Amino acid sequence: MAKLGRELTAQGVDVINLSFGEPDFFTPEYIKEAAKKAIDDNYSYYTPVSGYPDLRKAIVQKLQNENGLSYDIDQIVVSTGAKQSLANAVMCLVDPGDEVIVPTPYWVSYSEMIKLAEGKTVFIDAPVEQNFKITAQQLEQAITSKTKLFMFSSPCNPTGSVYSKQELAQLVAVFEKHPNIYILSDEIYEHINFVDEHTSIAAFDSIKDRVVVINGFSKSYAMTGWRIGYLAANKELATACDKMQGQITSGTSSITQRAALAAYQGSLDTVLLMRDEFKKRRDVVYSLLKEIPNIKVNLPDGAFYFFPEVKYYFGKSYNGKIIHNAEELCLYLLDVAHVSLVTGEAFGNENCIRISYAAAEDKLRLAVKKIAEALSNLK
Ligand code: PLP
Repeated sequence: MAKLGRELTAQGVDVINLSFGEPDFFTPEYIKEAAKKAIDDNYSYYTPVSGYPDLRKAIVQKLQNENGLSYDIDQIVVSTGAKQSLANAVMCLVDPGDEVIVPTPYWVSYSEMIKLAEGKTVFIDAPVEQNFKITAQQLEQAITSKTKLFMFSSPCNPTGSVYSKQELAQLVAVFEKHPNIYILSDEIYEHINFVDEHTSIAAFDSIKDRVVVINGFSKSYAMTGWRIGYLAANKELATACDKMQGQITSGTSSITQRAALAAYQGSLDTVLLMRDEFKKRRDVVYSLLKEIPNIKVNLPDGAFYFFPEVKYYFGKSYNGKIIHNAEELCLYLLDVAHVSLVTGEAFGNENCIRISYAAAEDKLRLAVKKIAEALSNLK
C-alpha cells in the first residue's frame, strides 16, 4: 500500500496517507536540544549494552512514579526500540514448539517474531463486538501444557483498545493458576490513553515476576526514528536479553540515549498536549465514521487508530470488478478515494481495515468524506 501510494503521489495524485503507525508531531524541542548537546559533549563511544546507567535509573524512576512498579537498574535493558525489546524477550523465552497466546487483532510483528523463534502462535479472536478485548474464559481455554508466553498490547495497535484494571485483574486470576506462563506486556502507547490512568499488568504483585514490560519513546514522545525502547523484567531474563542484544546490535545510539534521558527528566506536558490532540481527532473521526452505512466501528480508548469492520462491502463491485476482501477494499480506496489505509489481514482480522488518525484534522475530515463516497459507489 505504501509503495502504491508513493507511485500515485509520484504521478501527481494527492494521496492522503492514513497508513502510518507514527505520530505526525515533531520530537519536543527540549529533547532535540539534549541530543545536540550530547554530540557537542562527545557522546560518541559505545555505550553499555543495556544502556547508560543514568538512563536506566531514570527508567526505574519513571516506572516507580508513573506505574507504581519497583525495579532495580539491572532489570532494565534499553534497546533500539520497543520492537527490539519484544524480539529480545521472545528469542530468550520461546523454544521450538512452545505455544504463545496472542489476542487477535495484534501488532503485525508479534506472529513473525514467534515464527523466528520457532514457536507456535495460538490466536484468540476478539471481535469488534467485544471491543477487541479477550475474556478470561477465552484465555483459560487457549492455555495448554505447552503455553510459554502470552503477548499483547494495551493500548492496542491496531484497535486502540485499552484493558481496564478490572479486565486485567480477570486475566491475572487465570495466570495465577498457571505459574509457568510469562506475560509480555507491550505498553508503547501508554500515554496515548483517553480513559483511565494507564494500568500495567505488572502492577499485580502475584504475577509481576513473570511480566516483561515493554515500553519506549517512539509514540508518546514522537521519537520513532530515534530508535529507542526498553524492557523491564526479572533479573534472569533481563540478563539473558542483555546477552542476546550484546551479540546482535550492542547498545542503541549514544546520542539517542541522552535524548531519551532528557525526555524522562522533563515534564509530561508536551506528551499530554499530543495526547489531547489525538483525542480531539479521534472524536472527529468517530463522529464521521459512525455516519458511514454498514461499517461497524467502536470508540477506541487509546493509541491513534480505528479498526472498523467492513465485511459488508465484500462481494460488491465497481466497474464490474468485485471486491473480495479487506486488501482489495484498501486498494480500491487508494485507487478511487486516494486514501491509503492498511488491511486488517496484516493484524490477524480479515474483516477490518486500519485507519490511522496521526494526521491533521482537515486531512482526516477530507479522507473520511472520500472513503464514504467511494464506499457508497460500490454496488
Ligand atoms: N509495539 C507496538 C504495538 C507498535 O505499534 C509498535 C510500532 O508501531 C512497536 C511496538 C514498535 O515500537 P518502536 O518504534 O519503539 O520499536
